[in-house]
Amino acid sequence: MLIGVPKEIKANENRVGLTPISVREFINAGHQVIVEKNAGQGIGKTDSDYQQAGATVVDTAAEIFAKAEMVIKVKEPQAVEYEQLRPDQILFTYLHLSPDVAQTQGLIKSGCIAVAYETVTSNQGSLPLLAPMSEVAGRMAVQVGAYALQKAEGGAGVLLGGVPGVESAKVVVLGGGVAGFNATKMAVGMGAEVIVIDRNVERLRYIDDIYQGRVKTLYSTADSVYKATTAADLVIGTVLIPGANAPKLVTHEIMQQMKPGAVIVDVAIDQGGCTDASKPTTHENPTYLVDDIVLYCVANMPGGVPKTSTYALNNATLPFALAIANKGVKQALLDDKHLRNGLNVCQGKLTYRAVAEAQGLDY
Ligand code: NAD
Repeated sequence: MLIGVPKEIKANENRVGLTPISVREFINAGHQVIVEKNAGQGIGKTDSDYQQAGATVVDTAAEIFAKAEMVIKVKEPQAVEYEQLRPDQILFTYLHLSPDVAQTQGLIKSGCIAVAYETVTSNQGSLPLLAPMSEVAGRMAVQVGAYALQKAEGGAGVLLGGVPGVESAKVVVLGGGVAGFNATKMAVGMGAEVIVIDRNVERLRYIDDIYQGRVKTLYSTADSVYKATTAADLVIGTVLIPGANAPKLVTHEIMQQMKPGAVIVDVAIDQGGCTDASKPTTHENPTYLVDDIVLYCVANMPGGVPKTSTYALNNATLPFALAIANKGVKQALLDDKHLRNGLNVCQGKLTYRAVAEAQGLDY
């Protein structure tokens, strides 16, 4: 199969669909790969790195869309991209179609076969192609939170791990799922005092087993959230109700009672955020103050570390992409119900129920 990798064009997107290492896997399996020039710039990979891995470098994205049988990307196609997709061409990337009517119509009109990373499932009931980005965001949340706690950043001037003889910072992680677990790991590693709050007792049990008392777990109620967050130096919001807006656990009332200079990193901002005061921010301008509280609400946290994120994403997407290339898309989808769950648009038809329902379309 001929695989094509265009350079990402969405603003501030520095990740790339395939690393040179992944290109080599396709070449070894007998496929051909074309890569747009400079596609790997954001992760520090040159055209010659891609050529050495066996890819052919082409000058324009138009060549990729005109020739490739499967286009592999990171972000949802922009208008100029989906207008170039062809009937039966396979598109494998994040799509996030529900709120995006224009893209949905564009994909339907193109006649392409669009498989969305974010709806591919696993036997454990998780979303394996979304998880790596939650891992990145969860881990990053602690380092950006620690930085924001510095006085010059508007924070209380507290060092996360304290020093011998001085108490460490109190970190409250709301939600103990993928992002929350990874945030917990980093906060513990930096020596903070950590509380994890979740409404899933199984998750709390798991975290308790691993940390053996080093991390405190609390069941999520209005009272437990109030008590923990008002005593916290750093609150990391990672709650998720799949398919819905994030619950607003940190209310205005709570924020008025929080310690001056406390920091909230709202990882759940891409689902609307879990505080009453959350609004999306960018890597260029990541924080703002509400009263004396510092809020960090960057909606694409993994974009800040494109190198790590691209490799993490490729580790998760590569087996699925290779299955499509090796078997052909039809057989790969027939063989694997989890990959099939990724199919959002197929040859002019919308094939994902939640998107149809969100947009009031026939399914
Ligand atoms: P997850 O499903 O693994 O974890 C979410 C957890 O929240 C679950 O354990 C769930 O039980 C818990 N939860 C739900 N409602 C709760 C409540 N009322 N109180 C306490 N806990 C509650 O999800 P995840 O993969 O960790 O993702 C978390 C969020 O991070 C999502 O909104 C995701 O989109 C977002 N995310 C953001 C970025 C970013 O750049 N900002 C990057 C990756 C992921």
